[in-house]
Amino acid sequence: MSRQNTILCRTKFLIPMGKSDRSKRIKDGFILTQGEEILEVGAYSSVKGESLLKEYGKDLTVMGFEGDAGSMKESEIPCLNTIMLPAFVKAHGHDHEQPLIGIAKDVPLTEWLDKAVNPFTGYINDNNDMLTKELGMSPQLVTYYMARVCDINYGITTSMVHHCNHSKYHAAEIARANEAAGTTMIVAIGGQDRFYYEALLDTPEEAVERLVKASQIKGLKRTSFCPGPDQLFSNSRKVLIPLKQWARENNTLFHIHSSEEPKTTAWFKKEIEPGMSPVQYADSIGILDENSVLAHQVNCIPEDLEILARTGTKIVHNPLANTILGSGMPPIMEMIKAGIPVAISTDGSGSADNQNIIGAARAAAQYQKAFHQDATLLKSEKLLEMITVVPSSILRKNQGELTEGRQADFILLDLNKPNMTPTRLDNVIENIIWAADGSEISTVVARGRILKNDGVIKDFIDGTKPEEIMAKVQKLSELYAKHRETAPEISGTGAHNQH
Ligand SMILES: [Zn+2]
Repeated sequence: MSRQNTILCRTKFLIPMGKSDRSKRIKDGFILTQGEEILEVGAYSSVKGESLLKEYGKDLTVMGFEGDAGSMKESEIPCLNTIMLPAFVKAHGHDHEQPLIGIAKDVPLTEWLDKAVNPFTGYINDNNDMLTKELGMSPQLVTYYMARVCDINYGITTSMVHHCNHSKYHAAEIARANEAAGTTMIVAIGGQDRFYYEALLDTPEEAVERLVKASQIKGLKRTSFCPGPDQLFSNSRKVLIPLKQWARENNTLFHIHSSEEPKTTAWFKKEIEPGMSPVQYADSIGILDENSVLAHQVNCIPEDLEILARTGTKIVHNPLANTILGSGMPPIMEMIKAGIPVAISTDGSGSADNQNIIGAARAAAQYQKAFHQDATLLKSEKLLEMITVVPSSILRKNQGELTEGRQADFILLDLNKPNMTPTRLDNVIENIIWAADGSEISTVVARGRILKNDGVIKDFIDGTKPEEIMAKVQKLSELYAKHRETAPEISGTGAHNQH
């Protein structure tokens, strides 16, 4: 490997989250990365600093130091007033919702799908030519670039994006945005064959063909694809079975929303697959295993827990969406007790309104502590694992911890903030969860590339400027707001019409 692109970063606090001791806290630590990989992590000493300067010399980029590392003295290696930890991994989100913040609030799930998500993705699909002219690039691409900006802002460098509804036609564009951003992404390509707008319904052949086509996109370094049918209620066995078979043949994950809120779950059990919960249905058709990842699973009966544990199915908990949409919260303490891996995620910005995954972890803990009247549940160290180590393992990625040989994805939290003062070794992890508000994430490194530096998100690899994307999204949202004034009401998700 080239000696180029070698980064040394020394930090006041380091939380490596390594397997031998997930809660280890190091005062005055460092990381050394080369290319996309971590070479070394640990406690800093001047002897170590000297040997690193000697070995890597002028090829070294020393974070926080402007000059030439080739002629640098050890005493000049700055110890940044920051906390270093693994970058966050988001196991469930929707990049196509990014421009939808603050829209259709105070309504439940299916009404929100009908009033916010589906009209927007439909609008940018139906008016693609006009919007492309107005924005200088396709509205989908603008949307996906914006989502990358927001993830980087909050220190999320790896995600599984559930590419639902109209987005399923735009796999190439989301891959392009991800490659340009420098993040790592699994695109779970959506689909449906029942209880949705007629125009969107797939045949099993069409659903599989879409995946095959996406997987053949050339030149992708950071993006992969898997089946992501939207919901268990909107997909019959005719389409789910061949999609899961494709996932098994191609060794990919399989991602789907399950039991997100009580009304749709009750409707499912009563009329769609009579007598079966969504999980019982999924199990009965053989689509659950250790590579199946369910988002939500709010309404979870004891029989579901047994099935999830037996099959090795993974759960992604989205406390912001679940509380904001009034869906209820899943029994994650019971899931964890049953040995079911549970990651915490933000879901899309259409429901959660931002990608502050620390806020999601905090919301999860607050709810469980209050609900069980037990303050000892979900300690900060455990929560941090649920947004790093656990989702990384669910997505089968070589990240989530800062140890030798892992992908070089890490973040720095700036301690020069009133709300982070005082921070010491004994409260550093607790402060990340309870005192931070997300704005402290000053530096973000993914695959050894600095994506955000000292509070500023850098231009993308293809030259795209974050501020230009933000201006385009502002314009797109104003055009959409105007369109909404006269747009007819949509109610296509089916479930909405049942109540
Ligand atoms: Zn979702």
